[in-house]
Amino acid sequence: WLVLGIESSCDDTGAAVLRGDGQILGEALASQAGIHEQWGGVVPRLAQEGHKQAIDGTVDEALRRAGVATGDISAVAVTVGPGLGLCLEVGVRKAIHIAAEHRLPLVRVHHMEAHMMVTRLPPPAEASETSRPADPRQPDFPFITLLVSGGHNMAVLTRGVGRHTILGSTIDDSIGEAFDKTARLLGITKVPGGPHLERLAKDGDPKVHPLPKPLAKTRDKVLQEGCNYSFSGLKTAVRTLVERELHSAKSAALSEEELHKAKADVAAAFQHMAVRHLCERASRAAGWALELEPGTKCLVVAGGVAANQAVRKGLEEVAREHSLQMCCPPPRLCVDNGVMVAWAGIERLLLGLFEEPPSADSADSHVEIRPRWPLGERDPRSQQQKV
Ligand code: ATP
Ligand code: FE
Repeated sequence: WLVLGIESSCDDTGAAVLRGDGQILGEALASQAGIHEQWGGVVPRLAQEGHKQAIDGTVDEALRRAGVATGDISAVAVTVGPGLGLCLEVGVRKAIHIAAEHRLPLVRVHHMEAHMMVTRLPPPAEASETSRPADPRQPDFPFITLLVSGGHNMAVLTRGVGRHTILGSTIDDSIGEAFDKTARLLGITKVPGGPHLERLAKDGDPKVHPLPKPLAKTRDKVLQEGCNYSFSGLKTAVRTLVERELHSAKSAALSEEELHKAKADVAAAFQHMAVRHLCERASRAAGWALELEPGTKCLVVAGGVAANQAVRKGLEEVAREHSLQMCCPPPRLCVDNGVMVAWAGIERLLLGLFEEPPSADSADSHVEIRPRWPLGERDPRSQQQKV
C-alpha cells in the first residue's frame, strides 16, 4: 500500500508518498526561507499564508513524482502537533479533505515522534541489496533519542510507537533557539542562523572567552542532578560578551578581518559550551535509560541541530562511553519534511493506530489539532516546573 504524509507544523510545507515497506516514491518540500528573515523569526500569520499557497502544489508534486493519483493512496498521515496552530490547521485540513474524498484511513502524527522514527526508515532498496541485511543504525526499540531542534530540546527513552518517557527537557530555550539568537547577536541576519553560526565558529578559538556552564551554580537539586537543559543563561553571557568585545570603543578600531575573528571567537565559545552542556546531560540520560531498559542499544540524534558537526562529534563520544550506537537520519530528513510524517504514519498503521475515514462533511468543519501535545510521561527525576 501507499501512504501520503503531510507536514505543516512550522515554516516548511512537506509532502511525500511512501510504499508500506518505507521506500520513498515521491517527495516535495516548499520552504519559506526568506519570508521571515526581516522579522527575525517565524511569524505565524505569514507562515500560515505560505502554507495555504504551497499546500496543494506540494502534495500534487509529491504525487506526480511518485507517479500516482490521490485515488491510488491507501492512507493519509498528517502532523497534528505540536507546532503553530495556524500552520498545523492547513496541513490537517488538506489531509482530511483527501481522506474524506477517497474514504481513506487518517493517521494523526506527533511531529517529534516523526523526527525520531524517521531514523528507522529502511534504506533505499538498491543500498540494502548490496550490503547489510539489517542496518545497525536503524534503531530497534528501546532506544534513546536526543531531540535537538528549533522548538525542542529533549532526551527521551522510547520503548515503542507512542511509548515515550521524557528523561529531560529544556526549562527555557532549545539549543536551536540558542544558536539562532546567538547568531543574531553576532549580526547574522539569515534565518535560521544556526548553520551560519557553525560556519563562523570554525574560524574561532573557543578558549579565548570561557563562558559559564549552564546550571552549574543552581541550588535546585532536580536541575543540578537531572537531565534537564537550560540555554538562556548562556545566551545572556554571550550578549554581555558581545557588548564588551564587539560594541565597545575598543572594537571600533578593528579591521574587517579582526572583527571577523572577534566574532568567530565568540561563536566558537558559545558552540563549545552549548555542546558541552548538551553532552553532559545526554550522558546522564543515557545512564538513566540503560538503568530503565538495559537492552537499549542506540542513541538517536534527531532534529535540525543534528546537522551540526560539533554536536555530532560530542554525542558520538557520549554514545561510545555508554557502548551505544549513534543513529542519525540523513541530513535531508533531519529538518521538517513529509517523508518523516508518512513513515511515522506507516509505523502507526502497522499497529492499527489510525482513524476510520472522516465523513465528507468533516472536511469543512472544525479540524482537531494539538499545538501542545506532550510526547509522553516525564521521568520523576527531572520533574520540573517550567520556570
Ligand atoms: P521543532 O521540530 O522542534 O518543532 P523545527 O522543526 O523548527 O522545530 P528543525 O527544523 O528540526 O526545527 O531545526 C531547525 C533548527 O536547527 C534551527 O534552530 C536551526 O538554526 C538549527 N540548525 C540547523 N542546522 C544547524 C547547524 N548546522 N548548527 C546549528 N544549528 C542548526
Ligand atoms: Fe521539526
